[in-house]
Amino acid sequence: MATIFSRIINGEIPCYKVAEDEKNFAFLDINPLAEGHVLVVPKTETDYLFDLSDEDYTSLQLFARKVAKALREAVPCKRVGVAVLGMEVPHAHIHLVPLNSESDLDFRKPKLQLTPDRMKQIANLIAEKL
Ligand code: AMP
Repeated sequence: MATIFSRIINGEIPCYKVAEDEKNFAFLDINPLAEGHVLVVPKTETDYLFDLSDEDYTSLQLFARKVAKALREAVPCKRVGVAVLGMEVPHAHIHLVPLNSESDLDFRKPKLQLTPDRMKQIANLIAEKL
């Protein structure tokens, strides 16, 4: 069965899309740690990030860097933090999270609840910087 991320990429499930290229897709995390929390996902359905082929892994990392640069311009922050968990969704992905302090990357923290309008606005702000 297709993963939830494949279903998002295929347009079967809605998302707040940020960017897409031939091999990769980026959208807002629905339970964000911070405004602008983005997931960067390879279109190929591989569970574990480090099992991707060299080509797909490199492509994903280069794509993540582009998105992270746009994210930093769109959402003021000291740094964009990078995390790989994969505890919930078995489809490789990289979390990009705007950081102002170390604790902003603490996944045990309660997640933000943003309105659909705000999520759309943030996704558009990042997309505009790409
Ligand atoms: P993990 O697999 O541990 O890296 O966590 C998966 C992440 O995907 C979590 O932060 C979820 O909030 C996020 N997530 C799950 N379903 C969706 C969805 N439909 N749209 C956006 N983000 C999602």
